[in-house]
Amino acid sequence: MKIRDILAKGEPTLSFEVFPPKTEDKYESVEHAALEIAKLKPAFMSVTYGAGGGTSRYTVDIASRLQKEEVTPLAHLTCVSSSREKVMSVLEELKSRGIENVLALRGDIPADGQVEKDYHYASELIGDIRRSGDFCIGAACYPEGHVESANKDQDIHYLKEKVEAGCDFVTTQMFFDNNILYNYLYRIREAGVTVPVIAGIMPVTSKVQIKRICSMSGTYLPARFKAIVDRFGDNPAAMKQAGIAYATEQIIDLIANGVKGIHVYSMNKPEVAAKIRDSLSEILK
Ligand code: FAD
Repeated sequence: MKIRDILAKGEPTLSFEVFPPKTEDKYESVEHAALEIAKLKPAFMSVTYGAGGGTSRYTVDIASRLQKEEVTPLAHLTCVSSSREKVMSVLEELKSRGIENVLALRGDIPADGQVEKDYHYASELIGDIRRSGDFCIGAACYPEGHVESANKDQDIHYLKEKVEAGCDFVTTQMFFDNNILYNYLYRIREAGVTVPVIAGIMPVTSKVQIKRICSMSGTYLPARFKAIVDRFGDNPAAMKQAGIAYATEQIIDLIANGVKGIHVYSMNKPEVAAKIRDSLSEILK
C-alpha cells in the first residue's frame, strides 16, 4: 500500500524505523528485530539505507521481508554517493519486489568529500524516482534547519523544491521540543508546503546516543530533557525507562495538538517500540 493513501485516511498513524546490518553475519539478528517490531502492526515501517549504498541489498531484503508480513515498507534511498545507474538498479529491484514507497535522500557528504557526480541534492533523486515508476515518495525535513543550511528560510525554500519535484510526504529529523515542530509547521504551511508531515521521534535510551545526536546534528536539548540525562545517564535501565517515557509524552502532546503522523526511530529495539505502542493503545484506537 502507498503511504500517501494510509495518511490520506486522516487517522493518527504510528510507524517505526529499522536500520540494516553493515555485515552479512548481523543480518539475521536485524531481521529478527524487524519482524518483532512488525508484530506491533505499525502503519508502516521504514528501513534506512547505509551511507554510501554498499549495503543497499540489505535495505531491499528487509523491506521485502516486512512486505511478506503484511507491514507496508518504506525503503530509504540515498544518492550523493551513488551513480544514476546504481540508483536505477535499486529502483528496479524495489519494483520487482512490489515495494511502492521510497524515502528519497541526498545522504551525508562523506568526511573525505568524495561523492559521485550524478546527484547533488535529494530533489534530483525525487525527479528520477518519479519518472521511473509509480512510487510513493517521501523526503526528509529539518524543523531546526539542516546543518548545512545558512538559515531556516533557505532550508524551507529547498524543501519546497523537493515537494515540487514530486514528493508525497515528508518525515522530520528528530526533535526534543514539540514547540520547534509547531513553529516549523506554521512556517512551511505559510511557504506553501502542503504535503503531510510525519513527526520523527527518537526515544533516547542511553547516554552514548545523546552524545552522538549532539555531535552530528546540533539538535536542541530542552532543560527538562538534560535533567533526565544528568540524573539517569549512568544508570542504563533508568535511562531507558525515562527516555521511553519522554518520547511517549512527546507523542501524546503531538497527537493532542493534531499532528497525525508519528514515526519512531526505534533503532532495531523491539522492546522500546512495544513499550511506546502499549502506552498509546487507547490513544491510537
Ligand atoms: P537535501 O534535501 O538534498 O538537502 C541537503 C542540503 O542541501 C540542505 O542544507 C538543503 O537546504 C540544501 N539544498 C537542497 N537543495 C539545494 C539546492 N538546489 N541548492 C543549494 N542547496 C540545496 N542518511 C542516510 O545515509 N541513510 C538514511 O537512510 C537516512 N534516512 C534519513 C531519514 C530522515 C527522516 C532524515 C531526516 C535524515 C535521514 N538521513 C539518512 C540523513 C540525510 O541523508 C542527511 O541529513 C543529509 O545530509 C541530507 O539529506 P536530504 O535528503 O535532506 O538532502
